[in-house]
Amino acid sequence: MQRTKYLLDEDAIPTHWYNVAADMPTPMEAPRGPDGNPVSPDALAAIFPEAIIEQEMATERWIPIPEPVRQGLALWRPSPLYRAHRLEAALGTPAKIYYKYEGVSPAGSHKPNSALAQAYYNQQAGIQRLATETGAGQWGSSLALAGEMFGLEVDVYMVAISYEQKPFRRSMMETWGASVVPSPSNRTQAGRDALAADPDNPGSLGLAISEAVEDAASRADTSYALGSVLNHVVLHQTVIGQEAKQQFELAGDYPDAIFAPCGGGSNFGGAAFPFVADKAAGRDVRLVAVEPDSCPTLTRGQYAWDYGDSAGLTPMMAMYTLGHDFMPPGIHAGGLRYHGDSPLVSRLHRDGIIEAAAVPQLGTFEAGVTFARSEGIIPAPESCHAIRAAIDEAEACTQSGEEKTLFINLSGHGHFDMTSYDRYFRGELEDYAYPEAEIHRALEGLDRAE
Ligand SMILES: *Cc1c(COP(=O)(O)O)cnc(C)c1O
Repeated sequence: MQRTKYLLDEDAIPTHWYNVAADMPTPMEAPRGPDGNPVSPDALAAIFPEAIIEQEMATERWIPIPEPVRQGLALWRPSPLYRAHRLEAALGTPAKIYYKYEGVSPAGSHKPNSALAQAYYNQQAGIQRLATETGAGQWGSSLALAGEMFGLEVDVYMVAISYEQKPFRRSMMETWGASVVPSPSNRTQAGRDALAADPDNPGSLGLAISEAVEDAASRADTSYALGSVLNHVVLHQTVIGQEAKQQFELAGDYPDAIFAPCGGGSNFGGAAFPFVADKAAGRDVRLVAVEPDSCPTLTRGQYAWDYGDSAGLTPMMAMYTLGHDFMPPGIHAGGLRYHGDSPLVSRLHRDGIIEAAAVPQLGTFEAGVTFARSEGIIPAPESCHAIRAAIDEAEACTQSGEEKTLFINLSGHGHFDMTSYDRYFRGELEDYAYPEAEIHRALEGLDRAE
């Protein structure tokens, strides 16, 4: 039988994270305060421990992974790389398709890779409690797990509409000992203002971030933890791409193109950035960030200075954005409904090192079902975006006869998203491309970044 699974020993878990800032063609700019000046690291000390702030600003290429974090990761890492023989056969494509499965973590996605590191550094700094937000519940579950592993209390502001629609993600967080409140809540000023304006506010990721940041800034025993976007989060995810490189060596192959879903950019950056160094050394590899056409940050947003949250409590970052008051339509890939994108991913996109593609909702579920019926794994709706784009590429190979090697980062499983699949099967889902006029409106008043 052909070997379709590439497994590594625990020893192969990377000992360092790879910091792409060291290999950027143009240097990163520090975040800016409301006065337009760069924020000092001290300004972040109210919500983050020092080690995290250092990583946020770091420019060295390799940053050691603390041993307790590596041991925690060993609970499920290295994650497997599969050759998708059955999917290739179903498509009748000459392309070779591989996927790395991050759904083997206890929380079911790549997000614990960063949650563990963040919980560890906070525990080392004597912090007792973490405040965070969650959209679909993936990040909240991951931080709940990590808080449990490192002995920290975890409080999660969960976007109200998800709180109602995803009760089992909430139970999962509670199982790992976290407390969960729907956002907007009465606990914070940002939440009270939003509820005063609209008592039925369904919430958004930007608003939940405002609540969690306000909570963390108001208590000395509490830090804030973010599940994506920031440099240190993307850094922690680079274990994915480093393992993948070792696995492609085992397979005697190398990708022509890498596809990962892109919400805030952390699993994309984690999978793709370790290949940026090869690209800089002259190797030809396409790095494709795939987003929903209903939240087209990289493909239709603007490279501008914008806040990370809707209330404007965070510093401003130079990133592709749809505007911080962007209200995402209720598509089912909850993890991809964020107005901005990682500053690292954004910069590399502006500099032409990475590519972006946007795909419609119905096509993503169709691709997810094709994948589940050939490879067995039911992908998260977010992951279905990368599968869609890879299948499109594989079908182009069928036309051209090219035998390209395609790599999908399968960021998570969809076991908590079956109501979305259910609605797809009942024909209740729609395509919704975000209207151009709305994008223009939301971007008014933002400063373009250079
Ligand atoms: C959160 C999430 C994403 C999107 O977040 P990124 O930071 O862009 O990686 C993608 N897939 C899954 C399964 C997620 O939980």
